[in-house]
Amino acid sequence: MTARILDFLASRRPEGPCLVVDLDVVRDNFTAFRHALPDTRIFYAVKANPAPEVLSLLADLGSCFDCASIPEIEMALAAGATADRISFGNTIKKERDIARAFELGIRLFAVDCEAEVDKIARQAKGAKVFCRILCDGAGAEWPLSRKFGCEPSMAAEVLEYAHHSGLDAYGVSFHVGSQQANLEAWDGALASAAAIFNQLGERGITLRMVNMGGGFPTRYLKDVPATEAYGRSIDEAVRRHFGNHIPETIIEPGRGMVGGAGMIKAEVVLISKKHRDDEQRWVYLDIGKFGGLAETMEEAIRYPIRTRHDGTETAPCILAGPTCDSADVLYEKTPYPLPLSLEIGDEVLIEGTGAYTTTYSAVAFNGFAPLKAYVI
Ligand SMILES: *Cc1c(COP(=O)(O)O)cnc(C)c1O
Repeated sequence: MTARILDFLASRRPEGPCLVVDLDVVRDNFTAFRHALPDTRIFYAVKANPAPEVLSLLADLGSCFDCASIPEIEMALAAGATADRISFGNTIKKERDIARAFELGIRLFAVDCEAEVDKIARQAKGAKVFCRILCDGAGAEWPLSRKFGCEPSMAAEVLEYAHHSGLDAYGVSFHVGSQQANLEAWDGALASAAAIFNQLGERGITLRMVNMGGGFPTRYLKDVPATEAYGRSIDEAVRRHFGNHIPETIIEPGRGMVGGAGMIKAEVVLISKKHRDDEQRWVYLDIGKFGGLAETMEEAIRYPIRTRHDGTETAPCILAGPTCDSADVLYEKTPYPLPLSLEIGDEVLIEGTGAYTTTYSAVAFNGFAPLKAYVI
C-alpha cells in the first residue's frame, strides 16, 4: 500500500469496490527488472493489467509487450509501442488473427506444435517463431499446468519443421508458473533450452533467443525474494547452461510488474453466522471471485487485507463475495483471520491486487459492474 493510494482514497473517496494503481510502483518495478537483468529485453505480459496508463508508461520506459490476442496487440500499439516491440505469445491463435497481426507488423510468434507452425507459415511468411516447452510449475502458487508447451524433444522437431517451412526458427520459451517463489525454477528449463539449441545446431540451424517467461512474484502475505535475487539466479543459470554462447534473452513479467502497484478498496456488506452458537463468522464483501478476485480459486492467492481495526484481536472467518453463486467464496478451507470488532459497512483494503483483477472481473454478473480502476 502506498501513501499516494491512501491519499487518493482519502481525498477522492471513490465509490467502491474499486482498484487504485500507483504508476510510481510500476515504474520502480520496471527499473528493478531492468537492473536485475540488464542484458534481457522485458516483454510486459499485457493480460496482467492492460490499463492504457500502465501500457503508455511502460512503452515510454522502453518495455516490449507480450500479447495474446489482436485487441491486446492493438492496445500495445495505441500505447506507443512499435510492432517490433510486440510478440504474439499465445500458442493458440486463429489463422486469421495471425494474418491480422502480420498486417499490423508483428513478426514474433509463439508455437508449440506443427499445426500452429503451418498457420504462421501461411500467414506470416519469414516471421520469427519460438517454441514453448512444458514446465511443471513446481513451486508456483498459480502453476500453468500442461496446457501450453510441448516436451523438449518435440520442440526440437517443431523448430526444425518451422525452419523448413520458411520461418525463422528463433528460439525457445517457457514459463515456470506464476507467483514462483523458487529462485532455482528457471534452471531446469534453461538446461532443456540449451539442449535444444545444441540439437538444432547439429542440424545446421542456429537458434538465437530464450524467452524465460514470467513467474516473478508479488508480495502477498509471505515474503518473496527480491527481483535482484531472481536476476542473479537466472543469470547464473544462463551462463551455466550456455557457456560462451549466451543467447538473446527475454522475460515476460506480468504479476511482478503490476501486482504490488494496486490496491482494492472494498466494503463489508454482511457479517453473519450459520447457527446460534456458531464460532465462525461469515464475512461478505462487495467484491468476490466474479468482481475481480478470481485468483482466489482453490484459495491459490491469499491477499493481505487491511481494516481500521488492525492490531486488535482477530478470529478466523469465512470470506465470501456478494453474488448469488455459491462458488463465490474466497477463503473457506483456510479461513481468514479478521478483527472481532469488524462491522458491517467497514471499509477493507485488499493489497497486491494490481495484477489479474480488472481483467478477470465479470461484465455484469447479478448486475454488478465490472471492477472500476483508477490509475494514478
Ligand atoms: C501470463 C503470462 C505471463 C506472465 O506471467 P506472470 O506470472 O504474471 O509474470 C508471461 N508469459 C506468458 C506467455 C503468459 O501467458
